[in-house]
Amino acid sequence: MANPFLPGAHPVKLLGTTFIVALLLLGNWGCASKTPTENHARPLQFTPGSGSIDGGDWVFIEVDEPAAAIGSALMTCRFGQHAASPGDYDATSGRYLCRTPAHSRPESVNLTITLNGAEFPMAERYVYTTRANNASPIAGIDLVTIQQQAKRVRELIPRDVAFAAVLKNGEPVGLLADAMAQATEVDYFCVPNLQDGIALREAGVTAPIMVLYLTEPSYAPVLLHYGLEPAAYSLEWVEEANRLLQRAGGTLPVHLWIDTGLGREGVMPDDALALARAVKQSPKLRLQGIATHFCCNEQEDLAAITEGDLQNPTALQKSRFDATIAAIHAEGIGLDAIIHAGASDVLLDGTTPVYYDMLRIGTLLFENASPEHRNYSWKTRILQVKTLPAGWCVEYDCDVTVEEDTPVGLVAHIPYDEVSYRVRGQRVKILADHEYVIVLDLSDLPDVRAGEEVDIILPDPDSPLDVPTWVPVTVRKDADP
Ligand SMILES: *Cc1c(COP(=O)(O)O)cnc(C)c1O
Repeated sequence: MANPFLPGAHPVKLLGTTFIVALLLLGNWGCASKTPTENHARPLQFTPGSGSIDGGDWVFIEVDEPAAAIGSALMTCRFGQHAASPGDYDATSGRYLCRTPAHSRPESVNLTITLNGAEFPMAERYVYTTRANNASPIAGIDLVTIQQQAKRVRELIPRDVAFAAVLKNGEPVGLLADAMAQATEVDYFCVPNLQDGIALREAGVTAPIMVLYLTEPSYAPVLLHYGLEPAAYSLEWVEEANRLLQRAGGTLPVHLWIDTGLGREGVMPDDALALARAVKQSPKLRLQGIATHFCCNEQEDLAAITEGDLQNPTALQKSRFDATIAAIHAEGIGLDAIIHAGASDVLLDGTTPVYYDMLRIGTLLFENASPEHRNYSWKTRILQVKTLPAGWCVEYDCDVTVEEDTPVGLVAHIPYDEVSYRVRGQRVKILADHEYVIVLDLSDLPDVRAGEEVDIILPDPDSPLDVPTWVPVTVRKDADP
């Protein structure tokens, strides 16, 4: 059979076919209530483009469909690999609505919409974020860059010293830990609280996990269940943990934390031996580690330690720590316990006498390769531009006025006044910061329009990644824009 669309087909025939198709279409228009032309419906766009991994958010989908068929299409939405969810028409907004399913990771997923059985993969991906203030701009974390840094850190640490990765730089802790563990050998993870420890386990982390700081002894069964190792910081703590674990099948590894001069968590050196004995005597606790934390790491620490200069705070803390450990060891207690004290500065300064068995590295892990090559991108857009005439107030009580006509750009919902803002790569001045509304001075960039992108930079260009918990975070992979 001749194909009328092939080159060489008779032009008259071609015209005729088009005419018949047009007639058929017109016919359908005429009796839309019986045979609606739903097959021509297609989705145009959806909003909002992001939401929490908890799911349950409405996504509003604009559909291009013939006037007579509005709202009558059968729609489903498929987010990533999840089962398709039905879409319903909402006359108020004139959009079809789908609810997002919960998703395990804060990442972007494909959205496929079906309309009357026809599939439409949407060009934009739907972005799942951590639970946070979803009015605020999303920070995208570059896992590959973070993995490279974890490798670099591991290589800086001598092979016979263990590497503990300290995760207190924001969500998603589980994913970050899992990514690091996949990139390099991480001997331990340290988290600031029990919840983060559980998040690591749920992300599939199998390495030992230490919960830093003060964990209430009432959590002992939970800690044991998840394989999390708390700090033992007082006799009362040991007594209570013991009591709660009486019927437990396993033993809870604990780290005897000693305050050698930071004045924060941990037992005082003079009380450490009694605490070590109590742990030793407990049938349900095991002395897994002996630890302290330094107050005042400096480059000259190595020299001071070598010279025995106890005016140096690190040397002094070290001497207290060593004496305490010696006393504990002298009773045959904790001979196989992991001794750990140093953090990023100790490694950066090469203060080798305080490397002990393990280094706990936080900040250095989240450092950027350079101010230009950051492990995160945090962007928002200018929502409004205008020019404030000379003398115009920009603060309550007219605390600030502009001296000359000043073009400004407004951004919204960034309750963190330590950040800086860059437009077209150039740092711009903040005229007013009311958290919900931030007024940027665009004097140097007067042609900036609403909708232009703004980079939000953590306190300094070379600040390590450390995002406040209200920031919605998503993980970027190679494929993502
Ligand atoms: C934060 C912290 C670390 C890691 O310190 P960085 O300087 O970020 O490497 C290690 N141990 C304890 C107890 C900490 O609080």
